[in-house]
Amino acid sequence: MSKKFSENYIDKAHKATIYNEKDIMDSNVCTCFYCGYQFNPKTEEDLEWMDEKSPKGKTLVCPMCLIDCVIGDASGFPVTDSEFIMACTEEWFGGISRISDGKPIEKLPRYVIEVE
Ligand SMILES: [Zn+2]
Repeated sequence: MSKKFSENYIDKAHKATIYNEKDIMDSNVCTCFYCGYQFNPKTEEDLEWMDEKSPKGKTLVCPMCLIDCVIGDASGFPVTDSEFIMACTEEWFGGISRISDGKPIEKLPRYVIEVE
């Protein structure tokens, strides 16, 4: 793995994936560090949030894979640097992610909860 980014830096980036509503909405490009999807949060339709009731702010989930590991460029992290993306996904998911696996970015089916 590249040592261009320190563990501490990668750790800080991980924290930027939660309660990130403000950073996300100030960003022009966001990257999902699980599947690699990049998008503009201002034009992306149907943004889905978690932690809706948290006073720290809401957490964005990826529009494609629905995992909460999205960072926007307003956070100050180099979200479009492929080396940075790879370093983060390897560290956070232990080499098990769609990026690590080289899988294409695609919209994954969401679980449908049936209510009786
Ligand atoms: Zn994703």
